[in-house]
Amino acid sequence: TERTLVLVKPDGVSRGLVGEVISRIERKGLKLVALELRTVDRELAVQHYAEHDGKSFFGDLLEFITSGPLVAAVVEGPRAIAAFRQLAGGTDPVEKAAPGSIRGDFALETQFNLVHGSDSAESAAREIKLWFPEL
Ligand code: ATP
Repeated sequence: TERTLVLVKPDGVSRGLVGEVISRIERKGLKLVALELRTVDRELAVQHYAEHDGKSFFGDLLEFITSGPLVAAVVEGPRAIAAFRQLAGGTDPVEKAAPGSIRGDFALETQFNLVHGSDSAESAAREIKLWFPEL
């Protein structure tokens, strides 16, 4: 079994899609092991998105992710990392995310693509420690 960090980003919370996302996670058979609504400060946002530091969209990304409450969760199950990325769909919700995925069904713009999921075992370990140090 494996764990992954999932975020319903501020666009997902403000659009009332938290239940939709959590429901899809549960129906897939994945299990919630932590779940919290919180508003993140710039410091956590910079650490979370450290790999994007220096990119053109980094400033906008920090602005967006700190703009309002988000939902952070740790999700567990067999191949949980890949399983959630399949549920989410590709980063670009129009060009890459298939219909039937969260982004494919509910998002139009890459910047507002509703959810985050860890992209590797290393990222998952780093992100879970960052968001839920008590776990
Ligand atoms: P996430 O890390 O949120 O799960 P991802 O792994 O699918 O998304 P990344 O390439 O890691 O995609 O990008 C992280 C986030 O940065 C994206 O989810 C999106 O919100 C934002 N982003 C990425 N590329 C762009 C872009 N070209 N323009 C605006 N925002 C972008």
